[in-house]
Amino acid sequence: MPERTIYLDHAATTALDARVLDAMLPYFTTEYGNASSIYTLGRHAMQAIDSAREQVADILACRPTEISFTGCGSESDNLAIKGIAFASQKKGNHIITTPIEHHAVLHTCQYLERFGFKTTYLPVDTYGRVNPDDVGRAITDQTILVSVMYANNEVGTIEPVAEIGRICRAKKIPFHIDAVQAGGALPLDVVALNADLLSLSAHKFYGPKGVGILYGRQGMRLLPQLQGGSQERGRRAGTENVAGIVGAASALRLAYEELPRVMPRLIALRDRLIAGLLTIPGSHLTGHPTERLPNNASFCFEGIEGESILLNLDLLGIAASTGSACTSGSVDPSHVLLAMGLPVELAHGSLRLTLGKGNTNEDVDTILSVLPGIIEKLRGLGG
Ligand code: PLP
Repeated sequence: MPERTIYLDHAATTALDARVLDAMLPYFTTEYGNASSIYTLGRHAMQAIDSAREQVADILACRPTEISFTGCGSESDNLAIKGIAFASQKKGNHIITTPIEHHAVLHTCQYLERFGFKTTYLPVDTYGRVNPDDVGRAITDQTILVSVMYANNEVGTIEPVAEIGRICRAKKIPFHIDAVQAGGALPLDVVALNADLLSLSAHKFYGPKGVGILYGRQGMRLLPQLQGGSQERGRRAGTENVAGIVGAASALRLAYEELPRVMPRLIALRDRLIAGLLTIPGSHLTGHPTERLPNNASFCFEGIEGESILLNLDLLGIAASTGSACTSGSVDPSHVLLAMGLPVELAHGSLRLTLGKGNTNEDVDTILSVLPGIIEKLRGLGG
């Protein structure tokens, strides 16, 4: 086993920041109260949640009452989409989204189809970008929700969400943004984004796993998806994960404090990776050349399987990702790459490298020195 893992899978998850852990620790040990209890220990827990909510609201430029804490990004997406859908059944049954969303959105829409909802999947271009005009054209008198991601988790393309939000606002259609990949990397001002609902997940920005955030603009009617107590203003029953909530807020605050310093560094590392790896014959950048997440370098290599690249990188202690998913023994190419119009064979050879604040120039040097050889070897083996 190599001495140190070169971790290049920050879109999958990130390590908890040590300062965030420090902020969380008291809520596992001395401050273990239930936030619903009226004695001092309970009130401390509630104060910690209130303060976390204020910190998050500050970054999203919204009211603290518009923030709900959930159990993950997937839950935030589910609550936003099902919550609006089931609360708006009298108004209509039509949802607009894109074919490149995360499964937390796609599978939620598919689930709703069982209850009579209908989904329109907007086309995307070869970079994975939605044309905002298509959103306007797809809206009907039955439309109750538009859901478009801020930035794609596989190829890093940033969507024109503020413009889409402007169109939705003009037609009075609620607009949900899955901002799980954008959290900690792109501006989250919900006013500037014209967002009515926005999902985040703490483990993507050096916070704990198992904590999601949902912004829901005042006046949005959401049917709760968990029945029980009246926590989170009745939007999400269940005893609050106080330590997790404190960690999520502290991680979000740190990410935006450090953004001006961290992002230019990541962009420089990303651009070195892209320029270096595109010199490999038969390599293609996937996603938009400039409108992409600062940490995302993703590619397709002709004539090989992404999974084989991953296994070879893993032997060298390098963690990366491919868009392909292993289902029942066969490897399916990524739905995102196929929606972008990539040929199936090429989509099989996808590799996603996502940088984080711990990565160095030396990490990039290592990738640039080992990857061309791995690809040549795999091509020699026939993929
Ligand atoms: N949405 C996007 C765009 C994601 O990338 C992810 C996770 O990778 C999710 C939603 C789900 O978040 P979580 O893992 O917190 O459920």
